[in-house]
Amino acid sequence: MSRKLSNEKILVIDPDTTYWAITDNLTEAKKIENEYTDGIREELKRAIETKSKQILPTFIEFHVTEACNLNCKYCFVPEKYRRNIRMTMNGDQIHNVIAKVLNYVDTIEDKNYNVAISFQGGEALLCKELLMEIIEDYSNEKRLEFTFQTNATLIDESFLDFCINKNITLGISLDGPKEINDMTRVYPDGKGSFDRIFSAIELMKSKGVRPDVITVVTKFNVENLSKIIEFYHKMKIRSVLLNPVEPLNKMALSLVPTFEELSSYYEKAIRSALKINVENPHDRIIIRNVQELIMCLVSDIIPRSCYMSPCGTAR
Ligand code: SF4
Repeated sequence: MSRKLSNEKILVIDPDTTYWAITDNLTEAKKIENEYTDGIREELKRAIETKSKQILPTFIEFHVTEACNLNCKYCFVPEKYRRNIRMTMNGDQIHNVIAKVLNYVDTIEDKNYNVAISFQGGEALLCKELLMEIIEDYSNEKRLEFTFQTNATLIDESFLDFCINKNITLGISLDGPKEINDMTRVYPDGKGSFDRIFSAIELMKSKGVRPDVITVVTKFNVENLSKIIEFYHKMKIRSVLLNPVEPLNKMALSLVPTFEELSSYYEKAIRSALKINVENPHDRIIIRNVQELIMCLVSDIIPRSCYMSPCGTAR
C-alpha cells in the first residue's frame, strides 16, 4: 500500500511484513509496489516466523491492579474499575504469576537469560507495600529484574530508597510542563497532577536518579513536542518515550492527533533532541522510540516492547 507522508514524500509499505520504502513520486511508488512480488512477501513472512521463534521474552508488563488515584482523560481502564481498589491482585495471585515466569526461565539453558517484570496498573503503587514485600522474597533470584511504571504521585522517600537499594528502575508518566500535563493527567476532582509528579522527580534527582519518562502524545501537546523535549532536558530527564494516545475509548479517540501532525511535530522534536545532544554531549536526552527504531534498522537488537506490525505485542 502507498500513503502520502507530505507534499514531497510517499511511503510504500506492506503492514504484514513491514517491507517499506520512501519515494518522492507516485510513478516510482507504483514501480516499487510492482517489484514487491508474492515471492518476496512469502520469503519475508518465513523469515519473520523463523526469527520470532528464536526470540525469548525479556520484558513482562504485569498489571497488578486496575485501580488508580488519577483520572487521566484518555485512560484505557474503565472508570468503575479505576475507582475500585478491589480490582487489585492479592499476594498469592501475584506470587503464582511470578512462579510461572520463573518456571519458564528455568527451562532456558542460557544462564545469562533474564526477565524484567514491570509492575503497572492502574496505579501499581497503590499496593506498593505488598509489592515491596514480594520483591524482597525474590531477592536471590538473579534471573529476575523488577521495574515500575507509575504516575509518580505516590512515590515517597522510603519507596524510592527501596528501589535504589534493589536496583529497580522507575518509569514516570508525564505529559509535559504543568500547563500541558494538567490538561490530561488529572485527579478525579479535576486538579492537575504536575506538582506532585514534579516533587517526585526532584526527590529522585536529589538521590542521583535521572528519571525516564513516558509522554502520551495527544492533540493537547503534539504541537509542543519540541518544547517538551527542551523542558525535559532542563529537568534532567534521561529519556522519554513519546507514545501517541491509543484510541481505546471515545474520549481518547477525540484526542488522537492527525498523521500529518504526528509526523511533522515528531520530526521537530527529534531535531530539538539532536541540537541539545550536540550542544551537551555529556548531558543528553534520548527519545527512546527513535533510539529503538534506529537499533532495529542497523542491528540485530530487538526492543523490549515492540510496536511494529505484524507482531505488535505491545500495541
Ligand atoms: S495514571 Fe494511568 S491508569 Fe491512572 S488514570 Fe492515568 S492513564 Fe489511567
